[in-house]
Amino acid sequence: MKLLEGKIALITGASRGIGHGIALKFAEQGANIAFTYLASVEKGEALVKELEAFGIKAKGYRSDASDFKAAEELVNSVVADFGTLDILINNAGITRDTLLMRMTEQQWDEVININLKSVFNLTKAAQKPMLKQRKGAIVNLSSIIGIKGNGGQSNYAASKAGIIGFTKSIALELGSRNIRSNAIAPGFIETEMTDALDPKIVEGWRATIPMKRGGTIEDVANTALFLASDMSAFVNGQVINVCGGMLT
Ligand code: NAP
Repeated sequence: MKLLEGKIALITGASRGIGHGIALKFAEQGANIAFTYLASVEKGEALVKELEAFGIKAKGYRSDASDFKAAEELVNSVVADFGTLDILINNAGITRDTLLMRMTEQQWDEVININLKSVFNLTKAAQKPMLKQRKGAIVNLSSIIGIKGNGGQSNYAASKAGIIGFTKSIALELGSRNIRSNAIAPGFIETEMTDALDPKIVEGWRATIPMKRGGTIEDVANTALFLASDMSAFVNGQVINVCGGMLT
């Protein structure tokens, strides 16, 4: 029996990177997948076919996670298309890194709205079908930067720390309804983005990690699978660091 057989999962920002990896992992484990994208239209459309190859139902929605009304409409469409919603993965996120001295109001607002407000938007909308069926799993992508902070990333760190406070509060609010809320705090994960960096810089990062390697998308997707599945039925309000021991 597959771990997510027949479940309905909504994943934000699945056109690339970690969200893409989570969508493939969940489809492999039998979940029907609703996912969003925004700028990467071609990649978003291509993902439907990749997911359908696992024999599940898949649909992509072009939707801005930072837009409150759009998030509500998205969840209504997913429920209309798939029947209900069992799993919400709040993955969409961006960086606008710079020192506070140079940070513009726009750079602050974009990161807070896309990384943090989106989690409020989607969770608020998703709680309705989850409360109705008295069951649900919410997984939010935070970051170890949200726990320890990082120079040049104050906007990002604030958004990811905010996600942790939100995750724990929702766990307390909705736990009695059998709706679990947990967060993943990835460390340095090697993606297409890091492939483009100077290999010496990447080697330097790897050296600071006790396991002497960067994380993979699969490392994060496997943790998301655990938190979304009944394997973690009594895990609620927790943050799991996926960082090779970089932060203990
Ligand atoms: P990524 O490769 O840049 O992908 C980001 C995804 O978010 C894309 O699919 C993008 O879609 C989507 N997105 C961006 N803005 C959106 C919006 N307003 N509405 C809907 N979707 C939007 O990022 P990643 O590295 O996979 O990171 C995924 C999550 O993990 C993020 O929350 C990130 O902060 C967190 N994280 C990553 C790392 C790491 O090392 N990679 C470490 C810690 C935490 P479009 O391209 O279609 O716009």
